Amino acid sequence: MNIERLYKSEDGLKQRFIIRGTTPAFMNSLRRAIMTYVPTLAIEDVEFRKNSSALYDEVIAHRLGLIPLKTDLESYELPSECSCKGEGCSKCQLKITLDKKGPCTVYAGDLKISDPKIKPVYPKIPIVKLLKNQELAFEAIAILGLGKEHAKWSPGHAYYQGYPEIEIGKCANPEEVKDACPKGVFLIKDGNLMINEEKIKDCDLCRACSDICDAIKVRGSRTDFIFSIESWGQLDVDEIINYALDYLKKTTKDFKKSL
Ligand code: SF4
Ligand SMILES: [Zn+2]
Repeated sequence: MNIERLYKSEDGLKQRFIIRGTTPAFMNSLRRAIMTYVPTLAIEDVEFRKNSSALYDEVIAHRLGLIPLKTDLESYELPSECSCKGEGCSKCQLKITLDKKGPCTVYAGDLKISDPKIKPVYPKIPIVKLLKNQELAFEAIAILGLGKEHAKWSPGHAYYQGYPEIEIGKCANPEEVKDACPKGVFLIKDGNLMINEEKIKDCDLCRACSDICDAIKVRGSRTDFIFSIESWGQLDVDEIINYALDYLKKTTKDFKKSL
């Protein structure tokens, strides 16, 4: 297997790779492990002390659950794997409180979190608007969880496509084909349609080109892939991939052992 990184965003939350010499099964396992088996922290229980806002407790609790929290996988355990056996302790849960009085907008950044290392990834997420004398106060518990239980624990989005393989035959309308490609994959040289090798990685297999000219064949490779991953911010992409690969390694090892 050979891996080439195509792109890494400045904040480290988006990356794109070419992975060569593997199978769709491996790519899909990695994608699924990332989205469903990499734990992150999210609010799970909320006990309201006061809520005279326009939103019901349930709606606010739902909004709180969806706030991405910066996650430290070194310090926290999944409740099911914690030595407290899921009873709740400082290794598997953290306390979050809020006490606000209007007029104001309550933001994710207003949450008081018991562990200073854990912060909302986007402090400007609005939770609710309080009018004059309206109040909101609650105590909440955040725990590590998995995307397979609820999307709020998913660390991000991962997807792949086969590396584009494009064959060009004789086209009567090369200019039209070139203009139809939204990614600028074609160029015209001496009146002939050619591939712009710099741009082929951007091809998303939309097949707008082959719809115009039957002599163009577009396929996604079955051994080479373009893999993209976007983190929601709780973990950076390197942490997500490392955890997912460790998970796959551990499950295959356990499977081998039980055989
Ligand atoms: S499949 Fe779409 S993106 Fe790829 S070369 Fe054809 S038109 Fe361009
Ligand atoms: Zn515990």
